[in-house]
Amino acid sequence: MRFDVLTLFPEMLEAVLGSSIIGRARAAGLVELNFIDIRDYTKNKHRKVDDYPYSGGGGMLMSPEPVYSAYMSVAEGLSYKPYTVYMSPRGSVFTQDTAVSLAKLDHMVILCGHYEGVDQRVLDEIADAEISIGDFVLTGGEIPAMAVIDTVARLIPGVLAGSGSYQNESHFQGLLEHPQYTRPYEWHGKKVPDVLMSGNHEMIDRWKHEQSLIATLRNRPDMLEKAWLTVGDAEFIERYKAENEDKV
Ligand code: SAM
Repeated sequence: MRFDVLTLFPEMLEAVLGSSIIGRARAAGLVELNFIDIRDYTKNKHRKVDDYPYSGGGGMLMSPEPVYSAYMSVAEGLSYKPYTVYMSPRGSVFTQDTAVSLAKLDHMVILCGHYEGVDQRVLDEIADAEISIGDFVLTGGEIPAMAVIDTVARLIPGVLAGSGSYQNESHFQGLLEHPQYTRPYEWHGKKVPDVLMSGNHEMIDRWKHEQSLIATLRNRPDMLEKAWLTVGDAEFIERYKAENEDKV
């Protein structure tokens, strides 16, 4: 999958997405990442990309022309319009489901805003969607873009070592992940739960599922309302709530 990121700070993206799992996926050719410096598309000698908003109110806005020219440096010559996302606190909130849909694309362009945002006219021309990473405001779109790229890229076959290892993770099936343990067997007087040492895979799977239900109930009860639960799950939750009133 190819990502083109339109940004004022390409070095920020390279620093993070050049290493670890995504860095290796790039080296292996599974993911192509290009960072396009919007300042390279200014036509003034100070490489100025912002201007005052007509609405007043302080702050600056990114001007339409450099953003458009940077976008066209990617889009021109393609036989299709690349799916283009503007990172914005006004956007629909990014979830694992959004990531699964985006991972089906072959090519995505991501625009990172700065200052008070971007002139609406260029967004109207190039953006297919606005995506927010949460109900808070950051100074720029680079961290949100990195969060989206990292989340989407690890869904691409071959990027993670174990095939489908993300399918047991939090959010993939509407629940949070169960607790996990590694060696040593005993640490600070705390032992690994007996069931995980039992070798009984049916019991282990049931324990994992119940622990997922408990984690979701305690940390994200809103998710349980939308999750697909069996009658057995619902009974387990009611029993857990009755026995652990202090914890939920
Ligand atoms: N004035 C804008 C507003 O109230 O919606 C906020 C602008 S913000 C300071 C600057 C840039 O950071 C935005 O253009 C956007 O690209 C990025 N940004 C900030 N918060 C974000 C979030 N929660 N999700 C995605 N992008 C965000």
